Amino acid sequence: MNELAKASNDTYFLGHPKGLVTLFLTEMWERMSYYGMRGLLVLFMTREVVEGGLNLDTGTAMAIYGVYGASVYFLCVPGGWVADKIFGAQRTVLIGAIIITLGHYILALPFEKTFFLGLVFVSIGTGLLKPNISTIVGQLYKPGDIRVDAGYTIFYMSINIGSMLGFLVCGYLGEKVGWHWGFGAAGVGMTFGVIQYIFSKSSLGEAGLRPTLDEAENSSRYFSIFSIFSFLLSLVIISAFIGLWSIDPELLNQLIVYLILLVAIFYFVYLYLFAGLNKAEKGNISMLLLLFIGSVLFWAGFDQGGSSLNLFAKDYTDLYILGWEMPATFLQVANPLMVVIFAPFFAAFWINLGKRNLDLDTPQKFALGCFLMAVGFFVMIFGVEVALENEKAGVKWLLLTYLFHTLGELCLSPVGLSATAKYAPKKYKGQMMGIWFLSSSLAAGLAGLLASKSLESGISSMPDLFMQIIIALCVVGILLLISNRFVKAKELEE
Ligand code: GLN
Repeated sequence: MNELAKASNDTYFLGHPKGLVTLFLTEMWERMSYYGMRGLLVLFMTREVVEGGLNLDTGTAMAIYGVYGASVYFLCVPGGWVADKIFGAQRTVLIGAIIITLGHYILALPFEKTFFLGLVFVSIGTGLLKPNISTIVGQLYKPGDIRVDAGYTIFYMSINIGSMLGFLVCGYLGEKVGWHWGFGAAGVGMTFGVIQYIFSKSSLGEAGLRPTLDEAENSSRYFSIFSIFSFLLSLVIISAFIGLWSIDPELLNQLIVYLILLVAIFYFVYLYLFAGLNKAEKGNISMLLLLFIGSVLFWAGFDQGGSSLNLFAKDYTDLYILGWEMPATFLQVANPLMVVIFAPFFAAFWINLGKRNLDLDTPQKFALGCFLMAVGFFVMIFGVEVALENEKAGVKWLLLTYLFHTLGELCLSPVGLSATAKYAPKKYKGQMMGIWFLSSSLAAGLAGLLASKSLESGISSMPDLFMQIIIALCVVGILLLISNRFVKAKELEE
């Protein structure tokens, strides 16, 4: 019996292995807490003290948001390594989940110092959980099992159901009752996630049970150096967050972008030259590098949703419906809601194209994602013009922008996850997932810089900046299309 037939025996959950339920629910609660809190972050930091906020100026808040987003995803790199080398993915996810939960409860305390400590906990925990839970999904299936992509689509739905819950529950409590109530609700959600994971972990079986790196002792020396470097960098960021030393957050944001870029270059050079990979594996790394570049640009644009566009929603958008002013965070629900609605169509669409032999290669899908993101910003330029003329713009501008951003996300994000799981060399699966999230890290840092710039002189700075983002996205999209002709990846046997 071939591998495929063996793997297809486990069809417990919508035709997928039982372990997917565990991962679905854990990721759902984790994202509920993550996005619920993140939706409030910029608003909380920029509101005046009388409104319960921190009264930071917009530039500083954007930079802190950028540094936070960059740290969260940056820590996925050592997080992947900890799983590959020490605990295995399953246990690392549990440790991460517990740390995140503590982080949200710390955020619920109404003090400024503990606020930053809470952010540090959430970053470290997410770094441990996020890349590893994403790798376990792929490991539920045998190589060549055609259900992997669909598995990732289902998993992607859990991410977005979770973020919807987060924006609604934490957003409402945070904006309408009190910021720290919103943060506390994130902690409660995450507690459900931890309990659920502990009780159903056994259904994951062998997937991610053991560390994978002991077979690669020789090459792991380089990676240890890399991880120590990541760890030190994380300490620098963390200590700045808790106020052990102070630096202008915007400068820190810039430094972090350069450092992450350096780490990414270092890592790819290491993979090509020192990781002992064969030719086919190196070919796959080349494709993953392409995806990395596309992903950075895409998420840098996308992350404006939680920062500059979030402030645009709060201060320049007419949020009244039937006489009730909805929380600005509610507009953030548009993205995950549309993902949940459209994801199955996208999955079916890719399969349909495949049946007609019109398959798009992964870099082509990424290019499409970048173009759609560009269209979203184009729409937003009109929205900003309306707000400049009339003080407030209708919600339709942000909704339309988020529609294009979501369509772009569906071309890129689940596809990137499953491509990373499929094409990464086996011994480096955890780390490569870390690298996939490193692209989000670089993007978040970049997004912080862009967001500060976009509000430099109020929203009138937005149109020019958005135009530059559009041009950059189109250039990268075209680059992806051209390079796709030269780079081909293959799924590798174990
Ligand atoms: N929305 C997705 C998630 O939360 C992707 C985020 C990202 O990679 N920047 O997992």
